[in-house]
Amino acid sequence: MASSSDLGEIINAPAPELKEQRIILKTKSEVDVLDDGYKWRKYGKKMVKSSPYPRNYYKCSAYGCPVKKRVERDRDDPAYVITTYDGIHTHSVPT
Ligand SMILES: [Zn+2]
Repeated sequence: MASSSDLGEIINAPAPELKEQRIILKTKSEVDVLDDGYKWRKYGKKMVKSSPYPRNYYKCSAYGCPVKKRVERDRDDPAYVITTYDGIHTHSVPT
């Protein structure tokens, strides 16, 4: 009996009170995941009703770091990728 999905946990809870930093970047890019210097681990994926493009969720792979980002293509202009970062890294950029 195959599982219908192995995409991982889907996050649909609203963000808790936003006391953390949120950064939203809109970048013209052919690749969905931009190299921002940090290492990320994908933990979720979700189709968005109003968009043909899925939304992907990533978590910083550094131990104890709470930063998450989500990546989706701009449905109005698919040449652009929208990356949303939540939180502040507790470490410097890995080298
Ligand atoms: Zn981090």
